[in-house]
This record gives sequence, structure tokens and C-alpha cells, in this order.
Amino acid sequence: MTLKFLTTYIFLLFFGNVLFAQERGYEKFKQLEEQLPTPNQYHNAAGAPGHEYWQQKADYDIKVRLDDEKQRIYGEETITYYNNSPDVLTYLWLQLDQNIFDENSDRVITQTDKINLQDASDQLLALHGNFDGGFKIEEVKAKNGAALKYTTNKTMLRIDLPTPLKAGSSYSFQVKWWYNINNGITTSARTGYEYFPADDNYMYSIATFYPRMCAYNEVMGWQHKQFLGRGEFTLSFGDYNLYITVPEDFIVGATGELQNSKDVLKKEQIERFEKAKTATEPMMVLTPEEAKANEQKKGKGTKTWHFKAQNVRDAAFVASRKLVWDAQGVKFGDRTVMAMSYYPKECIGLWDKYSTRAVVHTLKVYSRYTFDYPYPVAISSHANFTGMEYPMISFNFGRPREDGSYAERLKYGVIGVIIHEVGHNYFPMIVNSDERQWTWMDEGLNSFLEYLAEVEWERDYPTRRGPAPNIVEYMAGDKSGLEPIMTNSESLIQFGNNAYGKPATALNILRETIMGRELFDHAFKEYSNRWKFKHPTPADFFRSMEDASGVDLDWFWRGWFYGTDNVDIALEEIKWYRLNTLDPTKEMSLQKIWDAKDPQYISETRNKQSIKETLMEKHPNLKDEYNNRDPYRVTNTDIQRAGTILTQLSEEEKAILNKAYNYYEISFKNIGGLVMPIIIELVYEDGTSEVRYIPAEIWRLNAQDVTKVFITEKPVKEFILDPYLETADTDRANNYFPQRSKPTRFELFKGGN
Ligand SMILES: [Zn+2]
Repeated sequence: MTLKFLTTYIFLLFFGNVLFAQERGYEKFKQLEEQLPTPNQYHNAAGAPGHEYWQQKADYDIKVRLDDEKQRIYGEETITYYNNSPDVLTYLWLQLDQNIFDENSDRVITQTDKINLQDASDQLLALHGNFDGGFKIEEVKAKNGAALKYTTNKTMLRIDLPTPLKAGSSYSFQVKWWYNINNGITTSARTGYEYFPADDNYMYSIATFYPRMCAYNEVMGWQHKQFLGRGEFTLSFGDYNLYITVPEDFIVGATGELQNSKDVLKKEQIERFEKAKTATEPMMVLTPEEAKANEQKKGKGTKTWHFKAQNVRDAAFVASRKLVWDAQGVKFGDRTVMAMSYYPKECIGLWDKYSTRAVVHTLKVYSRYTFDYPYPVAISSHANFTGMEYPMISFNFGRPREDGSYAERLKYGVIGVIIHEVGHNYFPMIVNSDERQWTWMDEGLNSFLEYLAEVEWERDYPTRRGPAPNIVEYMAGDKSGLEPIMTNSESLIQFGNNAYGKPATALNILRETIMGRELFDHAFKEYSNRWKFKHPTPADFFRSMEDASGVDLDWFWRGWFYGTDNVDIALEEIKWYRLNTLDPTKEMSLQKIWDAKDPQYISETRNKQSIKETLMEKHPNLKDEYNNRDPYRVTNTDIQRAGTILTQLSEEEKAILNKAYNYYEISFKNIGGLVMPIIIELVYEDGTSEVRYIPAEIWRLNAQDVTKVFITEKPVKEFILDPYLETADTDRANNYFPQRSKPTRFELFKGGN
């Protein structure tokens, strides 16, 4: 390398980093085409399903037996897989999610840990591993009974098909398995049991209990990225027949509609269920008294509960002797959806009061922003170890004290988690995004809608995620600790802030500040309806929101979803100008007033006192015409000049001149890097104020420094940037002119601690 080359290189680097990337606006406003997948016949350029969009279907007939003695599930299933793709498939992939509980699973092996030298009692058993988890696959066979060749790869299983599965055809096969159910309280999990020692009963919140088809699509092929415990599920839609065999005194709630209530429920319970359909408030289907009686029984027989569900991507269930069950119907047109809750008596005081009401509320609010809830039931079931969603059923934590009382925080925690998990029916259970890849597509959108439901639950609801001011602390944090929202689920450090809080806030800002409620709500509804019962990608969301609203949002996606910059716009400098009135007498008297306000040099002040008499005062006869001249006098030349200019002015210009406007030339600095609209409040000297809104495009040529003139009739006494806290500006100290300071109290401590 020659020296000349080196010089050129350094020169380019310098300009590349400093001038181009930081100061000019094109990087921030560059269209996203380079990042987004090319539109095609499956996902079109408008963000809608393309004219050749297809998706796979998987139907399940599942029979499971719950062994309450050994806490085990024994299962058999027939899966019918419909190959709607244009491709020939030579093998099928299934997910074995239970395998993350295997001691040799990647989840366990890749977990980072350190020995707690002070007290290792809590971690000792976990370090050694003492649970025989994971699916024990006993059989994989074709419908004719012939064994199928299969290979297990950790949490995935591949079946090699005897003959390739052609486009447009289907294939049925059977799997038989069993597994030990994990203790949900001691294992961090989305499924498991809780043991209640007081009455020696178990409550089972069961999910990922059967081998499930992986999704196969035109974006990923087979989506079989290993399950590590965090990135959730990618699943196809299908129809389910679910037969759950449990001890005869158990109650079961599950994804789907109960098909054989006469076999498993008492006559009066069926009657109450029918009554609940038209009830105006939640009604007990199975009362706390009945649940208490069930707890005491340990019958020897079994009962099988049969549930049917259509067009769902998964199934889950709750089962126990302990269950109280209440319900209320919600009308959507002429359909009645049953909002229901299952919980043990330990939840009474809180759950009987709020759970089903929260389900009803969620269905009503979410449906208004998206589409009518399409399933026949929506369930909130208690599980003290998780907040987790499945189609039609969710598991929710939070339990009152023994006497039924509860802390305020717990109350809002329970209502919030129920709204959130029931809300997940919309995203990702119906708008079926790839959770293993993108957590924000379901958690972010759902947290945003959760916020909209919470504000309709109660004024001043203590919402955690959604409002712009709530994300400031995270956005203001050290940049090295932040990843873009567009990061794979498993690699997120600040999971809650990144995948829930920041996208929920971004959507809220789009709605309130960038697009306005009308354009946003229309576009969001359009996206929801386009991808209802389909599989959208991030690009489909970005494109749909723009396509339906007519707003170019590429800069917004780039800044909020692909970047880690924060919002910090500062009021850098304000210059105040007024037009010369062309009235020389008025101008001179104004000049005199302003000059009098100027500060005086210290010697001048002191000399007035110290010098008793100047030479001129002593000899006034020495003064000439210059000594007596008024510095503010108006000359004939001044008058003539003003007169000439006035005659040349148009009527329009004269009208402006007469108004005596104020011209404020304001310089703004983008310190945070994220381009955003400039929202500025002008507070006038008479106490009135107005807010002016300048779209983010003001930064399109220079993303760091912009100057803009604001014209007002009345003089301004204060300028406030982002007066309504809508942009998540991380440093408000530079948002005020003149600067504001709020006192911080500090304390005096005396004596000991
Ligand atoms: Zn969630």
C-alpha cells in the first residue's frame, strides 16, 4: 500500500463517518427496500398476501391420559398434514418442545451460571439436574401401521416419508409418547403443575404436550430453529380433536368447545353454563363449594373430556380437582363467545371478581381495533408460575393472600396479565407471525393493544408499557446494552424493554404523533384483517401500515425498529427579529428604550460617583454642537429614505408591516440521532399558547442541525419542545427556553442509620 492510498483512505473514512452518516439526512430517510425481502407472489409489495399465497395445514386427533399419581402424560396422536405448497416434500419436521426439560438439552447446557458461594441451597438441585424430562417417543408409524423412519435432533424430529409428498396432497401418520410433567413452580416454564400440600392436590396447566408440526413456508422453508426456551413457537393452523382422560373428579378446560358435557358435568352445571351465555356478569358454572368438595375426593375411575377446535395453531388445557369455573357470554353479531375462568379456591377474592370481566373487556376492545373474536371460547386459567398464551386459553399468575385480600400492585398485575394473555389470541394465535424469529411481532403489537384496553378499564390505570414517557429510561441507557427491535428473540438482552415496551411505544407514537389516530387505526385494522389466519412477516406489517395510510414510514421503521438511537432534540439557539417599521421616530424611541436596558460597564457606574466634576462641566463654554446633539434624533435623510421605501411596498407588504410580527429563528439540534417531528409550544407573554407541529421530514437534508423561522403576532415568553411528552425525548433539560429548573430536595441525616 502506498502512502497516497493511505491518505485517500483516511480522508474517505473521515467524511464517511462524520459528514455523511451523522450530519446528512439521506441515511435516515433512505427507503427500506435494501433491508426488506423483495415482494413476490406470496407477500406482495403492498404488504398483503400475494395472489399465489399458500400455507400448510395440520389437523390433529390427540388422545392423552393424565396420570395424577406419577404426574405424567401418555399420548397418541394422528396428524394429517396437508401440503398446500407448490413443493414436493420428502420429509416432515416436528417440534419436540418438551425436550428442553431434558438434562442434555441445549437450553440446560448453554445456560450460563456461577456458584453462589454464600448460599447454594437454591441452586444445588438445579445444577445437578434431578428431573427426567423430555418426550419419550414410543412409536412413529404410518396409518397402515408400518413404522416410519425418524431422526431426533434435540427439540426437532424428522420423519422420512416412504414416498415423497406431492404438492396438493396430504399424509396421515401416528405418534405415541409419554413424558414426566415438570413442576412449574421450580422450573421456569410455560407449562407444568403446581402441588397444593394443604389438600394434597395437583393443578395441571398443560401445553406443548404433543409432538407438533413445524411450519413450512415460502420464507424459511422448514422453520426448525431449535427451541432454547425463549423464542416461542412457529405453527401451522389446523383442526383439533382433543380427548383428555383424567381422574373422574377432575375438571378440565381446554382449547376448543366441550363436545360431551353430559358425560363429564352435572346437570345443574350444564344449566348454569347455558344461563351464563346471556348473563350480564360472570356466573359460576362450578361453584367454590363444589370445587372444595371435589378436592376431598380421590375417586378411582377416569373420565374423558372431548374438545373440538377449528382453525387453531395449537392446543393447551388445564385440569384439576381444585377448579372453580365461571363464565359470561359475549355477543359478536349473532354469535356468542364464552368468556371463562378456571382457578383454585386460593384465588377467591380476586379472580372471581376480575378474571372473566377482564376476558370480556379484552375481547370487546381488541375486536374493535382488529376483527371480531372468531373463536367460540376465551379462557383465563390460573397458573401461579407463568403468564402464557395459547389459542382460546391462557395461563395467568397472581393470587391473593390467604384471607382473600391483596396488594394494589398484585391486583393490576393480575388484570394486566389476563388482558395481555387473552389478547394474544389476536397476535400471534390468529395473526400468526413467526415467534421463534420475531418476538416483537406478537409481544409488541399485543402490548400496544393491552395499553389501549387498560386505559378503557379504568382512568389512570397504572400501565407499564405503551406510553412514550415509560420507555425513556431504557432509550436513554448505554447504547452498548441495546439491540434493535429487529433482533432474533434468543439474542435479546433486555427482553421486556426491547420486544414489548419499545415496539408498543413506537406504535403508540405512530398513532398519536406521526400518523394520527384515524390513519393509524385504519391501517392497523387493515394489517390485522389481511393477515388474520395467515402468516405475516415484519415487511408485511411495515408495508401494510404505509400502504393503507399513505404515509411514508421507512424513516420511522429504520429509526425505531432497525436502530438503537434515542430521541433527544434540543433547542439550541433562538434569535428574535422584528421588521423595521419604516417610521423613523418610532424606531428611534424603541432604540432608546432597548439601549437603556443594556448593562452598564462597571467603571462607568463608579465614575458617576467618583468624578465630582468633569472639565466640560467646569467650562460649559467649551462645548460645541456635537456635545449637545441628541443621539436618537431623526434626520431628514432618515425620513426621506423611509418614505421612498414605503411607496415601493405592495399593499400586501404594507399589511404585514402594520402587523408588527415577531420572527423567531430557532436552531434545533438532534442529539439523540433518532429523527422525529419537532413539536414546539409557544407560550405568549399574555399567557396564551399554541403548539406547532413540524413533521420529521424537516431532518431529511441535515439530520443533526436545522433552523426554522416561527412568525407570531404576540411576543413569546417561553418555548417548550415536546410539551405533551409524546416523542420519548430522553433529555428534557434542553427542551425549554428560557431554561427551566425544578428543585430537587436533598436531606439532612443525623445520628445512626
Ligand atoms: Zn406476551
